[in-house]
Amino acid sequence: MSMLQTVLANLFAPSRTRAPGDQPPVPAGLRGFLAHDAALCTGCGTCAHVCAPAAIAVTRENERTLAWTWGSGSCSFCGLCEIWCPTHAITMKDEVAGAALNGRQVGLRDEIALIPCPRCGRPHVPLPASVQSDMLGGALSGTALAEKDLCEDCRRRMTSERIRDGFLGPKVCGTPAIEEAKP
Ligand code: SF4
Ligand code: SF4
Repeated sequence: MSMLQTVLANLFAPSRTRAPGDQPPVPAGLRGFLAHDAALCTGCGTCAHVCAPAAIAVTRENERTLAWTWGSGSCSFCGLCEIWCPTHAITMKDEVAGAALNGRQVGLRDEIALIPCPRCGRPHVPLPASVQSDMLGGALSGTALAEKDLCEDCRRRMTSERIRDGFLGPKVCGTPAIEEAKP
């Protein structure tokens, strides 16, 4: 075909560029854009730790707030953050957002509220009740319900105290029973 024939053929041929709404179907299981559920996020930072290109950051904004951010321009869509998030707050959607196709970075930003631990007052993000229920295999009740908002340090202390009390009996006026039993 001569150059002139090629030019004329292209001139009257339909566009070969897809319209924005006419994207090819994505393959099943595509690791596309991230979705972040702030209600499930504890700000633990695991996702940022496993993210090699540092597309995710978890930063302390102030006394009461953490910020979780993600930038598509740095993301390699490896999926490690979704795999390692202990509360399943991250999901990789099987969709490609138009903004990324246009070469622009898409960012996500969520704020995570810190609350004071009811026992020691340290600001922290308690494990969501739904996550605790899943871990315990049912609705929270008893000790689990009473301690659901404690920070991890206080949880450890309370558990240690219960174990100690189980062996030695409860404290009397703040003095361990074992010390009272000494001659
Ligand atoms: S998204 Fe998951 S891994 Fe990342 S900070 Fe939140 S809870 Fe931790
Ligand atoms: S998919 Fe991979 S590169 Fe993208 S934010 Fe998650 S861990 Fe980082």
